[in-house]
Amino acid sequence: MYRVNVSARYIDKIRSDASHGKPGALRRCAAGYEPSMGRRLVVDYGLAKRAALTELRSGSLARDDACDAHPYLLRAAKYHGEPTDASCPVCDRVRLTHVTYVYGDELGRYAGRVKAPAELAAMEHEYGEFRVYVVEVCQSCAWNHLAQSYVLGHGETAPSGDRQGG
Ligand SMILES: [Zn+2]
Repeated sequence: MYRVNVSARYIDKIRSDASHGKPGALRRCAAGYEPSMGRRLVVDYGLAKRAALTELRSGSLARDDACDAHPYLLRAAKYHGEPTDASCPVCDRVRLTHVTYVYGDELGRYAGRVKAPAELAAMEHEYGEFRVYVVEVCQSCAWNHLAQSYVLGHGETAPSGDRQGG
């Protein structure tokens, strides 16, 4: 288990995203709810990524600033990452690895932890709502960028007072 420290530019983004998806705001329908609601509120960061790559190529973004994966993030990529078919857009030497980590008020001390796909599948049934962040990481040049985020969870609000029995 690693607590991932991604670059400040992502943390700002993550915080602003997290502020409008408060657990508790989501209410399940009285009838016909599913144990798993699947991925929802998907945010794709492809545009921001392309902008960063354009800046990198034009020289307005330094390579050291773009390829600054934290050692923890690189370790997470190595040991808990999911290989992808996409080559690194910066060095083109290796394929990118996706590192997935989770945030949400319900998660408590697990917020900010790296999770493998199997763990996410289990968490989906355990928690009402949490946001998953997928960061692409190059283990060769240390390029890293937020790729996608989405919300998972069974959709029921956390037991915070007015939970009905059953
Ligand atoms: Zn690379």
